[in-house]
Amino acid sequence: MGSTGSIGRQTLEIVSGHRDELEAVALTANSSVDLIVTQALEFRPKLIVLNDEGAAKQAASRLNGEGITVLSGMDGLIEAARMEEADIVVTAMVGMIGIRPTIAAIKAGHDIALANKETLVCAGHIIMPLIKEYDVKLYPVDSEHSAIFQSLQGNNRNDLERIILTASGGPFRTKSAGELTDVTAADALKHPNWNMGNKITIDSATLVNKGLEVMEACHLFGVGVDDIQVVIHPQSIIHSAVMYRDGAIIAQMGSPDMKLPIQYALFYPERPRLDTKRVDLAQLGSMTFEAPDPERFPGFKYALEAARAGGIMPTVFNAANERAVALFLDGRIGFTDIPVLIRNAMDSAQPIADPTVEQILEAEAEAAGIVDMLQRR
Ligand code: MG
Repeated sequence: MGSTGSIGRQTLEIVSGHRDELEAVALTANSSVDLIVTQALEFRPKLIVLNDEGAAKQAASRLNGEGITVLSGMDGLIEAARMEEADIVVTAMVGMIGIRPTIAAIKAGHDIALANKETLVCAGHIIMPLIKEYDVKLYPVDSEHSAIFQSLQGNNRNDLERIILTASGGPFRTKSAGELTDVTAADALKHPNWNMGNKITIDSATLVNKGLEVMEACHLFGVGVDDIQVVIHPQSIIHSAVMYRDGAIIAQMGSPDMKLPIQYALFYPERPRLDTKRVDLAQLGSMTFEAPDPERFPGFKYALEAARAGGIMPTVFNAANERAVALFLDGRIGFTDIPVLIRNAMDSAQPIADPTVEQILEAEAEAAGIVDMLQRR
């Protein structure tokens, strides 16, 4: 799901290299007709879904006679998520649109390779009990969470003392607070290590992404905010680590390449050959670490606050950020306005302790509305 995005395309590269073991039985996208039609003709899924109805109509006419069903909208996405032929659903769509299809996939008994952060950030309290109830597996595809998952293998979970979540620090790690007010979307889109989609690249520059990853890790690994230490590691070689109660730190290292976490989720516990760039430690020479600076990157601070508050607050945080980032990419607000808008949305939100999916989606719309209203002033 989300086959035309960055993770989706890389997932299909993995499928392409393992045609005897992997098959894409359904592909979904938001509105990228050209790419999903190309993918459909190459991978021959039984079903493709475009969230946008007009895009679905175009795709249907172009795939006429190919024997590939084309559906649209949330009903179509849910249909794809539940497909009987599927063993595992890769949830790589962007945004809260991923919540309902993920729930549908779990209820259909499918394992989940989770690349849609919002699902756990906003609905972790709904998703995690469902994973247990339907006895399915949830494999993290986010590089940090995959690294934590890999570092937990072969050890006793009760011996875990702390999660060490690493962050590259983004392109503005060394900029002063004053310099940050003038940076542009083009500056922010130049990520030093990772090649990712636009939204997550901006989230990486604000450190909001790391805040969302803390929330994600709390749900995935059943730990509290204070059990997670965020460490800036600009070289992005250590993708995250865990510390056990005997003081041992186990980390997963490698070159920054999303194909590894994707492949690990698809083949767990096997490790087929993968042609990533090999890290030569002697050549690398050194790795450095530092604490994040919440004063220059207040979005990170607000994320931890939202994580501690729980309930609806992570949704409000995430939705306000999503809208603010869209405005920034559009050139309508400055980089340092992003956390200000998030702050305002959080301050205006009514807390809800244990929100339903409907309440989550309502709170999303409300937070986005508040950001739009403030921006127009
Ligand atoms: Mg990540």
